[in-house]
Amino acid sequence: MSSGQLIVITGPSGVGKGTLVRRLLEHYPNLHLSVSATTRPPRRNETEGQDYYFVTQKLFQQMIQENKLLEWAEFAGNCYGTPRFAVEEKLKQNISVLLEIEIEGAKQIKQTFPNAFRIFILPPSFTELEHRLRQRETESETAILRRLERAKEEIALKEEFDRQIINDDLETALAELIKEIDSILKKE
Ligand code: 5GP
Repeated sequence: MSSGQLIVITGPSGVGKGTLVRRLLEHYPNLHLSVSATTRPPRRNETEGQDYYFVTQKLFQQMIQENKLLEWAEFAGNCYGTPRFAVEEKLKQNISVLLEIEIEGAKQIKQTFPNAFRIFILPPSFTELEHRLRQRETESETAILRRLERAKEEIALKEEFDRQIINDDLETALAELIKEIDSILKKE
């Protein structure tokens, strides 16, 4: 039986994964974006069930224990995870699924889905990453520093992924992403 393809977009916080993913969904209207669960409080403009399922630490732990998460990781003091059910259902229905997750989770996915295609998005430089994180104005100074610290560790692991794409100019990075995803979807 044929199944959809699992595509993972990973890379450090602030690199522009969210923007690239939004543009990918416009380009591939049939692609399903998984909505993650997180213990992080919502930012202004974020909607429950659309951006994330915002859950308590207790509920998150329960989801882990009940094996309801395909992968999960702690990131800058909060937990993030991919709900299993929706992803597995879509794949069974031959619908390809996109995950936008951090690196630890992306590594875990390889164990459950060896055929998942995992793309690492890189900033043009560390200075530019810091600039983008600050420009977002969504995090406190402490949170920004935590994210930057984590970014260093994450970038060191870039070779573990199937492709690396530098997000310097957004349109160029998007075109490269589309080229990669086109070739993956053709293989189905
Ligand atoms: P943010 O707090 O900026 O929304 O997300 C922080 C980091 O968590 C980002 O790198 C984002 O891609 C990642 N993330 C979002 N959802 C998930 C998830 O379900 N699992 C994992 N492992 N990381 C996630």
